[in-house]
Formats: sequence, C-alpha cells, structure tokens
Amino acid sequence: MPELKNEFDCAKSLREGRYWMPFTANRRVKEQGMARVLESASGPYYTTADGVKLFDTLSGLWCSPLGHADPRISEALKKQADTLDYAPGFQLANPVTVRLAERIANMAPAGLEHVFFANSGSEAADTALKAAIGYHRLRGEGGRFRLIGRERGYHGVGLGGMSVGGIVPNRKMFATIMAPGVDHIRHPYDHAKVAFSKGQPEWGAEVAEDLERVIALHDASTIAAVMVEPVQGSTGVLVPPIGYLERLREICTRHGILLIFDEVITGFGRMGENFASQRFGVKPDMITFAKAVTNGIVPMGGVIVSDEIYNTFMTGPENAIEFAHGYTYSGHPLAAAVAHTVLDIMEEESLVARARSLEPVLEEAIHSLRDLPIVHDIRNIGLTAGVDLKPREGAPGARGLELFEKGLKSGLLLRCTGETISFGPPFISTPEQLRDMVATVRKLITELD
Ligand code: PMP
Repeated sequence: MPELKNEFDCAKSLREGRYWMPFTANRRVKEQGMARVLESASGPYYTTADGVKLFDTLSGLWCSPLGHADPRISEALKKQADTLDYAPGFQLANPVTVRLAERIANMAPAGLEHVFFANSGSEAADTALKAAIGYHRLRGEGGRFRLIGRERGYHGVGLGGMSVGGIVPNRKMFATIMAPGVDHIRHPYDHAKVAFSKGQPEWGAEVAEDLERVIALHDASTIAAVMVEPVQGSTGVLVPPIGYLERLREICTRHGILLIFDEVITGFGRMGENFASQRFGVKPDMITFAKAVTNGIVPMGGVIVSDEIYNTFMTGPENAIEFAHGYTYSGHPLAAAVAHTVLDIMEEESLVARARSLEPVLEEAIHSLRDLPIVHDIRNIGLTAGVDLKPREGAPGARGLELFEKGLKSGLLLRCTGETISFGPPFISTPEQLRDMVATVRKLITELD
C-alpha cells in the first residue's frame, strides 16, 4: 500500500471539504470539524471521535432496529463473503437470495408474493414506479402514465421517487428535470385539527377524497399509480388518520389505479407488525422496503409485488426479458445473508413484539413534553414519534439545528429537520432508555431560547 505523505487528519480533511457529505449543511461541518464524526457503535449507542457516547434516537436513519455491532451479523457476513461474495443477478440466481425472497413474501400480506431486489429505498421507489407503468402497458393500457404522490412525501432521490415525492426543498434545484405526468394529493395533516394526537388521529379520513379531485382533473384512464408512505417518516412522522388509507385503497381500486406503499421506514417491525400494511389492515399492490431488512449494515432494498402484477409480466411476449430493469447489486448475496441473520434475530428475540410493547412507553414519555412552551405538536405511532418546535422569529430551522448540536454534547444523536425532531429508537431499547432519552430532550429544549 502506498505510504500516506502525512498522517491522516480527519478534522483537517473535513475542514478542507474532501468529503462532500450527503444531505448536510457542509459549510457548518467545515467550521466544526470533529464534532460530527461517529467513530464506533455498539448496541443502541454511537461514540463520537471526541469520545461522547450518544443514544441512537433514530436507529441510524431508521435502519438499525437491532442496534449496532452484533457479532452474529458480522459472522454471517464473513461466512457469506467466504462462500459466495458476489453473484450476478442477470439470468442467474443464488440460494441465499432466493430463500430471502421466499421469506419476505411469507412475511408480507397474502397476495403480495413476489420480490424484486434493489439496493436502497430510492431504487426501490423507482423500481415500483417502473413496474406500475410496465404493468398497465402490458395490459394494453399504456395510456396510464401518470404517477401520483403526496405533498411532504419522501421516496428517495432517484428521478422517479424525487418527482413523486413532495418535499419542496428536495425538488427546487431540480425542477427542470422532474418526471412528466406527476401530480400530488394533499397530505392529511392539519395542525388545527389533529395536534397532540396519540396514535391515529380521529380527523382526516376525508382528505383521501383529494385523490378524486386529481382523478377528475386528469381522468382515471391516464393514471398508473398512487405512491404514499403509510406513515410519512422523513417529514416528521405524519400518522394516517383513522380510515384514511382504507379510502385511498377504495378509490384506487374503483379507478383501476395501483396503490404503492413505501414501507422503507415502516417495514420490518417499526409499526409493531412486519409491515404497516398489516397494522392498518390495508393491502396495497406493491410494497417497497429497504433499511431495517439488513439493519442498515449493508445496502438492500426491494419491492414486494402482487400476484396480479407479477403474473401480468409473466404473460407478456415469450422469451423476452419481461421487465427491462435491475441493478448490478440486485439480490446481493452478502446483503441477503445479513438480512437472514437480522430476520432470525428478530424472530428469536421477538423484537417486533418488543417494538409493539415499547409503543405505549414511547407514547407516554414523548407526550409528556407537551407542557413546554415552544413545543408546537407531538405525534406518535409504532416505535416512532415526531415533535415540532415553534420556530424562532426570523430564524426558521435555527432551533432544530441548535438542539441537534446540543444533543451531540449531551449524549443524544437527534434527527432534526427544520424544527421537527423525529424519533425511531432501536427495538432493543429498554423502557428506561426511552424515558431517559425524552428526559434529556426535555432538558435540552428547556435550554433553547
Ligand atoms: N422512501 C422512504 C419512505 C424513506 O424514508 C427513504 C429514506 N429515508 C427512502 C425512500 C430513500 O431511501 P434511500 O436513502 O435508501 O435511497
């Protein structure tokens, strides 16, 4: 290995901006250097380069429900790397991936039986959108090209997912390259009507009727699919009102439109069931997943597809590649081996049931923040919660950023977007850890002016 000319200096390198960080206020990092560097992780904690131990309030980026550095997973990873480290997925299969598809299909709602692998949530979203377009085309309804998303929705950063997504700052710079034929329905969050709801709000099912408005505008015969997160995660845990998802399902079915649930956050236990679809009792035509399937240890994503969609592709022109889509790393054996071990651990330790049993603990703790004068709203469902702070006059986002930075010094890795704090702690957390987390958040919010 060539010798480095100088001993590597991480802080200096960050200040010089060699590492252009994703979704980051890079200029601020360049000023602060080491304060942001996570050096190791174990269980539900990270340790920074400065030696501060941080409770992982969002399971990484919602992706590590088992916590970190479980030796059972690293052993499985090594064993697979020593056996079959990579295998092409085009015209070929490998047993660990085939078995994983079988396993995921068994966990999914009945009738969603076929798994297409990708490597991230963004790729999963684009895969599902392309499958929707292909499905209608194969059925002789190629005129159905429109894709409908929802305001404040997040489906990653690929061109499809970004276009169907509804987060304004993510779209702004790229307005000129948005996919054509995309429209958005309203999200069902209305602070005046649902603030401080616990679990699913009573009000809001009727907001699903906004889909009828979009259908009337464009005509159902031009619409391929509606894509929503059952619980909108990235924009601060927006919980579906009672009856809302049911109505979306009913409207889509009535108009021959596919319904896609983006379960990149909600999949694999976060809602106290394998999938949010099961928790809410609403069956979409496709489910996208990523994150927790491998506990975030190696990248993996994918789409679980209904029999109807899969069989439509299988009855297309013979001998052709039915779906001209896939990735070099689709069904990667290392990711599949890790996923098996993650799912084994979840089963052996009943971690989905544990997430369910922690839900009331998180709910009670998080809603105790309600008395703080700058707390604007609190929401929760499953092992997730969102807290909105009132922005400081003339400085939107400042309070969130300050809270995040205070957390780094006080033992909490917080996820603050604007003034919204999102929580999604690991399933292995103890009730005490959740209560301590909220107690520290209370203290830090109290210190904000
Ligand atoms: N969909 C949802 C619902 C997500 O929350 C995310 C990531 N937060 C994505 C898609 C994109 O996933 P990735 O970052 O793995 O591309």
